Amino acid sequence: MPPRQTKYIFVTGGVVSSLGKGVTTAALGRLLKGRGVKVSIVKIDPYINVDPGTMNPYEHGEVFVTADGAETDQDLGHYERFIDEELVRESNFTTGQVYQTLIERERKGDFLGKTVEEVPHVTDEIIRRVEAAAEKTKAEVLLVELGSTIGDIKGMAFLEAFRQLRNRVGRHKTMSVHVSLLPHLGTTGELKTRPAQYSVKELRSYGLPTHILVARADRPISDEVLDKLAATCDVDRQAVVPMMTTKNIYDVPVRLESIGLWKVIQERLELPERDSDLREWAKMVDRIERLKHEDDLEVAIVGKYVELNDAYISVSEAVKAAALAEDRGVKIRWVNAEAVEKEGPRLLDGVDAVVVPGGFGDRGVEGKVMTATWCRENKVPYLGLCLGMQVLTIEFARHVLGDDKAHSEEFDSSTKHPVIHLMEAQQSVYTKGGTMRLGDFPCKLTDGSLARTAYGTGEVTERHRHRYEFNNEYREQLAQAGLRIAGTTPDDVLVEIVELKDHPYMVGSQFHPEFKSRPDRAHPLFSELVKAVVGRKAATNEATSRTGSARNG
Ligand code: GLN
Repeated sequence: MPPRQTKYIFVTGGVVSSLGKGVTTAALGRLLKGRGVKVSIVKIDPYINVDPGTMNPYEHGEVFVTADGAETDQDLGHYERFIDEELVRESNFTTGQVYQTLIERERKGDFLGKTVEEVPHVTDEIIRRVEAAAEKTKAEVLLVELGSTIGDIKGMAFLEAFRQLRNRVGRHKTMSVHVSLLPHLGTTGELKTRPAQYSVKELRSYGLPTHILVARADRPISDEVLDKLAATCDVDRQAVVPMMTTKNIYDVPVRLESIGLWKVIQERLELPERDSDLREWAKMVDRIERLKHEDDLEVAIVGKYVELNDAYISVSEAVKAAALAEDRGVKIRWVNAEAVEKEGPRLLDGVDAVVVPGGFGDRGVEGKVMTATWCRENKVPYLGLCLGMQVLTIEFARHVLGDDKAHSEEFDSSTKHPVIHLMEAQQSVYTKGGTMRLGDFPCKLTDGSLARTAYGTGEVTERHRHRYEFNNEYREQLAQAGLRIAGTTPDDVLVEIVELKDHPYMVGSQFHPEFKSRPDRAHPLFSELVKAVVGRKAATNEATSRTGSARNG
């Protein structure tokens, strides 16, 4: 039984993709949460792939892993960072999943020989999935974002499902938000409203009115343009929202609240009146805006897909959150691991800290190993995430222990020194997609380790996504040479965190702490990285001023 009390806000996009629809949806979620509404969010991706887990990051950006182990769209990362609610497997689904379920049911004979069709079978399955997310998250309001743009053939069945859901739950239990681009023409200096008008009209042709129109532009939008949009799109004037591109995305909920959008949603969905509490959030936004950028830290992210910053969006957001906690801004230096291989670690010259994020496949791995060597030798703070932890281990085994052939079986299946090897549970896994060690697992921290100090507790739960692991056959030798095992599974079988003893901060985690970082609650492992940088800088400054005064004196 679907929870009858859940109300739905459908979010669609118009004219072009990459409009910041995900951020707008997340920000609406935060606005509602600020008003005391129990909110959750679903992202629908209208492509045939079952999930983004097996897609190229250049196609798709980051794969965000939920606590319950689903490999999902990167927008879920924005959602969790904004609404600070754990999302679930049901929070993201694709056309591929809808068809997969239907085809499996058809093969089992569930349809008793009937023809299986777009309507009602596909639409029913879409509704079932949206309601399952409502049920699982117990949301009072569920925001449902549809990927792609209106007018695209991929989205049609979903729009029909929204229309049916709207009739089913009652009109005042659903509303529709449309985010549309206002293109700018250099020749006339104008923002054009016509494409948005067509998009709203197209949406109406599916039986879906627009209750809130978010107008996106990269320059100020005049009242005249907003009036025109209200009149031509048949949207209440106070529900036409100007949304200029912003540097600080966390400002969006505050802006939406300040223009009175709560009233529009409250009235439409007949929600009880509640006070707004975005005070803490607004303070954070304010702190971001007040950062003095002259003393920004510079942190390198060394990866394979750095040309598309979105591929590591949770990582860069986690770095920024940790810096903000120390009242510091941060400049990310995106470093291509393959370029380090060719040009050497000089590409890292001058950075304050390095993060080596997760990854798959051998391209760029040697560049990451060179990066780890550089950090170890120069005592530059280093945080390795998943593959970054494996690289730290390989580097240490090669250059400190002296096993110059040390490697991961992922990159050299016949290596004589597999310090990283395939997990036992993975040895009989041959299919791709949802088959790795995924999601939350507990990790016990070692007393006296940097990680234990960073977390301030003895056991934590973190999100995983990997097939390979630290090889316990090397545990003794590596530990004796100075690689501390700082965290393991509670049964001590899998190594989860390693760190160098003789280094200010060189830590690697087999899990992905970036998924649990929040803009207003930095993750301990990232915080400790930034603190190590700030400490290192203070020490250097003190040393310089001491030599300075010695020279002067
Ligand atoms: N490729 C490595 C593994 O499968 C690391 C995975 C990752 O970085 N997410 O273990």
